[in-house]
Amino acid sequence: MTYDVAIVGAGVIGSALFRELGKFNLKTVLIEKENDVALGSSRANSAIVHAGYDPPNGTMLARFNVEGNRLYPKLCADLSVPFRQNGSLIVALCEEDLVHLRELYENGVKNGVDALEIVGPEAVRQMEPNLQPTICGALVAPTGGIVGSYELTTALAESGVINGGEVLLNSEVTRIEKFNKDGEKLNDLTRKGLFRLTFSNGRHVDARFIVNAAGIYSDSVQQLIGKPRFSVTPRKGEYYILDKRQGALVDRTIFMCPSKLGKGVLISPTVHGNLLVGPDAQDGDDKSDFSTTQQGLAFVRKTSALLSDKVDFRDSIRNFAGLRALPSGKDFIIELDPDVDGLLNLAGIKSPGLTSAPAIAKHSVELLANAGLDLIENPRFNPYRRQTRFAEMSDAEKTELVRKDSSFGRIICRCEQITEGEIVEAIRRPLGAKTVDGVKRRCRPGSGRCQGGFCGPRVLEILARELATSREGLLKDKNGSYILAGKTKETE
Ligand SMILES: Cc1cc2nc3c(=O)[nH]c(=O)nc-3n(C[C@H](O)[C@H](O)[C@H](O)COP(=O)(O)OP(=O)(O)OC[C@H]3O[C@@H](n4cnc5c(N)ncnc54)[C@H](O)[C@@H]3O)c2cc1C
Repeated sequence: MTYDVAIVGAGVIGSALFRELGKFNLKTVLIEKENDVALGSSRANSAIVHAGYDPPNGTMLARFNVEGNRLYPKLCADLSVPFRQNGSLIVALCEEDLVHLRELYENGVKNGVDALEIVGPEAVRQMEPNLQPTICGALVAPTGGIVGSYELTTALAESGVINGGEVLLNSEVTRIEKFNKDGEKLNDLTRKGLFRLTFSNGRHVDARFIVNAAGIYSDSVQQLIGKPRFSVTPRKGEYYILDKRQGALVDRTIFMCPSKLGKGVLISPTVHGNLLVGPDAQDGDDKSDFSTTQQGLAFVRKTSALLSDKVDFRDSIRNFAGLRALPSGKDFIIELDPDVDGLLNLAGIKSPGLTSAPAIAKHSVELLANAGLDLIENPRFNPYRRQTRFAEMSDAEKTELVRKDSSFGRIICRCEQITEGEIVEAIRRPLGAKTVDGVKRRCRPGSGRCQGGFCGPRVLEILARELATSREGLLKDKNGSYILAGKTKETE
């Protein structure tokens, strides 16, 4: 099959571009090595839509952060993705930090961030009474927000499918070659030609343009065809998620003054009403190490106490770790590869990559057009995607829905009040869930206090029924994560 554009990597960057390209009459394919979208950095991060006061003025980090932030409210409303503009507070822990806050304020103003303000300790106490009383001031950024990061990534990819794109999962790109129109392999890659991307499963696709959005592996993917231009290394961050009992401890996202190692430990409500505390920052070289450690979590607990000592870590319901993709340079790598005509690198997209994704996607379309991609508007582009959220409906709406479809009257996940109807919807959607965690990422059963202890087996049953497959073959998450080891008396 020959495509106009092949995007390698179904994280938030690849998926945002996939949707954006749906606005044009193009054949686009989104290629992902894992068995679902949003399984890289885009699933395990702080999920903050940064205001943009932090990245150095004049960088792509600053430009796309601020532009991306402005696109969020409408994008999330169109795609039915949970988002709240709760604002951010960057606090000064000591007098020295006040100087730093002033620098951040000035940098933010230069970056074009709206409504920034520096406030004194009394105002901080009024805004956030559960913070340490010793905090001596704060930068207030009202345009900061929180989002469901894997919900957004999944919704973007789904929107691309609704608008005619194709997604290939379980397809790790392991070879890229370029051919001329007579089918001869090109050695001079600056010449126009057709790319062939071959997967580890032996299949291949052909495409006129390639976008490398492979996250922490974007250096390896670039080197499958081009001369090495950059490297990307992982920096791990570990987190606590706390029960909703703790969710109202703070209203805004609370940051420390950023240091050389990044934005420091934050305390934030999540968009679903939990409390998030983390991350730390550990440099390493293992791009597959998502383990949490006693040391990393102890650091998070200890450091977060500088912000507030009222977090009750006994209410922790889950720990997780994410890997930041650190580029060898200081900025995002967003470039048409000078050595390979038709290759666009969106590489080393570290934080604020989630915030920047919608703006990077728009800019990428311009870069592809500059490289010769014909853009003819798709008159049938559908910007919307809807999702039923039973727990958020009024009583009258719930009654009406249950009357139409009784599966919305059966609660499967007690903690999050998720109905069977929502789970079935998550499985039957375009790009529907195939694993228990795939269902969780789309509609949240298993995200609550019991972490799937009660609803997990019932989700498994619904998946088996809807996919017309045996329960033994079903996975919790990535390939190989079987849940049932053998047949039970009941399943024999
Ligand atoms: C701890 C942490 C905290 C963060 N906090 C924030 C935040 O609060 N706000 C913010 O704006 N940003 C934040 N970020 C940054 C943000 O998460 C990333 O910038 C963003 O998710 C990057 O998306 P991506 O699509 O480039 O990468 P990914 O999501 O990693 O996607 C890349 C995809 O490529 C696939 N892939 C790799 N190689 C191949 C191959 N050969 N063939 C096929 N597929 C391949 C991978 O499986 C993966 O799915 C944070 C990141 C981390 C790790």
